[in-house]
Amino acid sequence: MTDTEPVGRYAPSPSGPLHAGSLLAAVASFVHARSRGTRWVLRMDDIDRDREVPGAADDILRTLEAFGLTWDGPVLYQSRRLDAYQAALDQLRESGRVFDCGCTRREAQTGPAGIEGPVYPGTCRDGLPAGRSPRSVRFRTTEGDLAFQDGIQGAIAQNPAKDVGDFVVRRADGQFAYQLAVVVDDAAQGVTEVVRGADLLTSTPRQILLQQALGLPVPDYWHVPLIAHADGRKFSKSEGAAAIDPSRPVPGLLAALDRLGQSPPADLAAADVDTVLAWAKANWQIKNIPHQLSPTAETAHAS
Ligand code: GLU
Repeated sequence: MTDTEPVGRYAPSPSGPLHAGSLLAAVASFVHARSRGTRWVLRMDDIDRDREVPGAADDILRTLEAFGLTWDGPVLYQSRRLDAYQAALDQLRESGRVFDCGCTRREAQTGPAGIEGPVYPGTCRDGLPAGRSPRSVRFRTTEGDLAFQDGIQGAIAQNPAKDVGDFVVRRADGQFAYQLAVVVDDAAQGVTEVVRGADLLTSTPRQILLQQALGLPVPDYWHVPLIAHADGRKFSKSEGAAAIDPSRPVPGLLAALDRLGQSPPADLAAADVDTVLAWAKANWQIKNIPHQLSPTAETAHAS
């Protein structure tokens, strides 16, 4: 990715307000890009209308602005990109990389255990069994390891055929799957660097498979650690516990920078947002980001 202009991005889902975990990914992505004067674009991952909370998209945009995390150009809304996803699906179909699947969710989940639940047993990959009608569309995975170097998590390898199996790119309800939409949009936005939460680390090999199948460039990846409860459970958007206060952005920014291993000086607590972000850009060390946050340390931050 040397001859293209670098572009970073942030892609929140409007399933609730930003919380400390999503702010962590936003801050990391923003400062990483801006520390080198790189463009930083925003996408609203609102393709899953069932998970969308009314008002959350605008609320997220206002919160990002309050934290000084301002983006370049217009926001791209996935809900307005259905034609682009359909074109990608058509391309995959023409090259034989997808197949129609007639299995119900329960039938598709009868395979061996994989990294995210049962691996698709392959029932429809050689053609729909007699009497079946198509429901979802699945990507045909191929055997073999897919490896990539994550800027924070190090060398990652997955065998998508064994670990996840043929995965859904268009759901039975007709909705395009996140994996397809993200790949189409990252390419459309010219994204060369993806900095996001480590909950998506296991999705990245599927996204690289799709990029390869569609002839799209593969961005560089950095997966930032997740904020967890003291018992290891991940914070979710629906929980108040990790709420952030847009009316007091400086403490939130400093907590995020601290969790990202950047050791902001204590006197920044009295500074304004622009000063904190200027310090962060000037002192950014992506190598200092920990792989994982210790839940014990998190308890201390939360107090
Ligand atoms: N929209 C996804 C989320 O909020 C992130 C997508 C991505 O960064 O690829 O979890």
